[in-house]
Amino acid sequence: MTSSVQPRQPKRILVTGGAGFLGSHLCGDLVAAGHEVICLDNLFSGTKRNIYPLLGNPRFEFLRHDIIQPILLEVDQVYNLACPASPVHYQSNPVKTVKTNVMGTIHMLGLAKRVRARILQASTSEVYGDPQQHPQQETYWGNVNPIGLRSCYDEGKRLAETLMMDYHRQNGVDVRIARIFNTYGPNMSEHDGRVVSNLIVQALQRQPLTIYGDGSQTRSFCYVSDLVRGLRLLMAADQLHEPVNLGNPAEFTILELAEMVLELTGSPSQLDFKPLPKDDPERRRPDISRAQEQLGWQPQAELRQGLLETIDYFDEILSKGR
Ligand code: NAD
Ligand code: UDP
Repeated sequence: MTSSVQPRQPKRILVTGGAGFLGSHLCGDLVAAGHEVICLDNLFSGTKRNIYPLLGNPRFEFLRHDIIQPILLEVDQVYNLACPASPVHYQSNPVKTVKTNVMGTIHMLGLAKRVRARILQASTSEVYGDPQQHPQQETYWGNVNPIGLRSCYDEGKRLAETLMMDYHRQNGVDVRIARIFNTYGPNMSEHDGRVVSNLIVQALQRQPLTIYGDGSQTRSFCYVSDLVRGLRLLMAADQLHEPVNLGNPAEFTILELAEMVLELTGSPSQLDFKPLPKDDPERRRPDISRAQEQLGWQPQAELRQGLLETIDYFDEILSKGR
């Protein structure tokens, strides 16, 4: 996953949400590549545990800060990842979720404008809502409920994209927009509430696997190392201001995922069917042609392989009782 190659021009890079699942992997990769990294996080859904291995590194700095408050830092690049990604977390304080996506993104764009940094926004497949186009291309405008339980996140991320494009057109800010599809791997929180971590933790603890609805809804799961590689390629790309889908096009039903988790963990757990949450998208799969053509990127890890790595991680975390 990491590269030890020293970059010809080391950069100062700000990663907001750097103590979260994706952010911690991104920070690790950037430090390993020779860059100086400032990891900014309010630790709402992230944890210092994710960045322990980096804390002693002179090229790494942790800053406890909430992007709802302005901040000025001298950096060359900003990866704006700060925002809880799990429905359980982002719905626990929806007003805060909107503030993070709107006020937080304005603050990061203001910073990028002032110090002339390139800025990448972690957007999401949720901007497509419950999509009526399948697979989803970047040109699709989506089917989003503006007043539902997921709206704080979906509409928040849509407005963050609007802000990125307006700061680009109005102020010449050098923006990148990654539309990230469901990603999983080590460093997800065991209490995160997303499907991969839930099912693995339940299987390892020999508890029933919670399946919402009948489990026929689909998702496409991308392993974290593939996703981080895609983010870095997008940041490095010249003149690519339009959104780019990053995700694994291999599509699975939630039932298929549960069966694979049971097989790989050897768990005797049963399935426990629960009501489907409101506005839960039925199908989701990225069209990644743009990323393939513009970045030469496509995912490499298969679901089975990525699940094994993730199971090992949770096995260790749970056995240490941390
Ligand atoms: P995560 O919840 O593990 O990480 C988010 C991090 O942001 C956490 O460390 C949290 O403490 C921090 N944070 C939240 N609000 C903040 C604020 N106001 N100020 C400072 N820090 C704040 O989630 P993740 O899966 O690592 O997601 C990272 C980013 O990628 C998010 O923006 C998310 O919307 C986006 N994304 C992730 C996925 C995925 O499948 N993992 C899919 C689509 C989009
Ligand atoms: N899901 C499930 N059991 C769980 C958690 C989630 O069946 O314990 C379902 C959820 O209803 C959704 C899918 O799995 O259909 C993916 O959910 P997740 O929260 O991981 O991501 P998102 O819905 O944002 O894609």
